Order: sequence, then C-alpha cells, then structure tokens
Amino acid sequence: TERTLVLIKPDGVRRNLTGAILARIEAKGYTLAELKKMDATRELLEAHYAEHVGKPFYEPLVEFMLSGPIVAAVFEGQRVIEGFRSLAGSTEPTTAAPGTIRGDFGRDWGTKVQQNLVHGSDSVESAEREIAIWFGK
Ligand code: ATP
Repeated sequence: TERTLVLIKPDGVRRNLTGAILARIEAKGYTLAELKKMDATRELLEAHYAEHVGKPFYEPLVEFMLSGPIVAAVFEGQRVIEGFRSLAGSTEPTTAAPGTIRGDFGRDWGTKVQQNLVHGSDSVESAEREIAIWFGK
C-alpha cells in the first residue's frame, strides 16, 4: 500500500496539537506505521528540503524546524499522499480552508516562514525518499 511521510513541525508540537493532528489522520482511515518525537538536524533538513536550498525562505525555514522537537510519522493507505495533503490544506495557514489542519489550527504569526504545522510528502518518489531520510532504509 502507499505510504507518506508526515512531519508535525515545531509549532504543532509546541502547541500540544500532536494528538489532535494524528487523530484526524487516523479518523480519515489511514494507518499509523511509524512514529517518533525527535530533534531535527541541519543535515536531515538539508536532505529533506533539498529542492528549497538557496531560496530566500530556506534559512528561516531551517531555523524554524530546529526551534523545537518535531514528530515524524509514516501513514499507510490507498492514495494516502493525496489524502493527507487534502487534510493538511494549502501552504499558507491564514487562507487554508477551514476543516483542514492548517485552516483550523494555523495562522500567520508575522515570521519570514510559514509556520504551517505539518509537512506531507507530495509524490510516491518523495515519500520513499523522505521516509528513508527520517526513518532510515
Ligand atoms: P509541505 O510543507 O507539506 O511540503 P508545501 O508544498 O505547502 O507543503 P513547500 O513548497 O514544500 O510546502 O515548502 C516547504 C515549507 O517551506 C512550507 O511548508 C513552508 O513552511 C515554507 N515555505 C514555502 N514557501 C514559502 C514562502 N514563500 N515563504 C515562506 N515560507 C515558505
């Protein structure tokens, strides 16, 4: 079955939203396969965000992702990649649709990076790549 990598970013962990976010994914019908709370490292983030290295928001994004613990999870199920991205909502939390994780729990805090609570893989290829980064092969 298809798998996706979900990260609960430091804002989600700091605000004690871990359980609420995981509960929405499980309630949708996806199965939790792996779960851990951890500190990201610069090395892991450089691999994870390889496509964004050099962009103006890259350094603020890394600083944000290092600002506190994260929770990494793997969820499984048919079309879970698309399904989770639909649950998460669009990147910018202020305008993400109500009913989504970002739309219900997030907003703009005036920082240089979108503190948008969660990450989800965007394709089968990136899911496998990202699961290897955060959980090893
Ligand atoms: P995900 O975070 O799940 O990958 P996404 O596709 O919405 O979702 P990306 O385009 O991969 O996001 O960007 C990664 C992260 O970088 C975003 O989630 C956000 O935290 C931050 N980010 C992206 N674009 C911007 C931007 N223009 N300004 C500030 N922060 C940004």
